[in-house]
Amino acid sequence: MDRKVLRNLSYGVYVVTSKENDKKVGCIANSIMQVTSNPSTIAVSINHDNYTNKVIKENKKFGVSILKETSDSKIIGTFGFKTSKDNDKFKDVNFKEEDGIPVITDSCGYMICNVIDVMETKTHTIFLGEVTNADDYSDENPMTYKYYHEKLKGSSPKNAPTYEEKQDDDKKLDKKTKKWKCKICGYVYEGDTVPEDFVCPICGQPHTAFYEVED
Ligand code: FE
Repeated sequence: MDRKVLRNLSYGVYVVTSKENDKKVGCIANSIMQVTSNPSTIAVSINHDNYTNKVIKENKKFGVSILKETSDSKIIGTFGFKTSKDNDKFKDVNFKEEDGIPVITDSCGYMICNVIDVMETKTHTIFLGEVTNADDYSDENPMTYKYYHEKLKGSSPKNAPTYEEKQDDDKKLDKKTKKWKCKICGYVYEGDTVPEDFVCPICGQPHTAFYEVED
């Protein structure tokens, strides 16, 4: 079985959010699809280990913000590589609340959904959500997973359905310059050395978080 063929499936980059009393939670998801148009229904896959998964099950309501190519990549670092359990992920992010659910404003738009069904896999929960509210406020291109991967040189968060234990992307990069990889998010910096004042554009880690990767 050649699992590489799965990489040809298309994905976006989304922030899935919910609320537990006053606590706002959220995580990055790339596996979201519309499954029916009337009523508009989407399917969202969230890892069991994500705190947001537990909150959505309790609240039975969630939001999806569709990131765009120009969305601040720190949103991915904050929502994709930290846990909502111990962090206020919304602290440094522009958001607003719609129907009691926080949504990211630096995005193409959002959907608010009621959970109408849940299916469990070994590692992920698939939430079926009926869209009850939505807004589309940008003409810019939505961020695709391919764009994130190739242009921003990001990798999958460990809990993403598309995560693979061995990501051999380093081999595909230009061989002339040294490559340094962020141990938190997988962002690759190219250059002789990582400058001391360099901060990872995805997850905000300092230069000490980078290690050299071989071609
Ligand atoms: Fe990083």
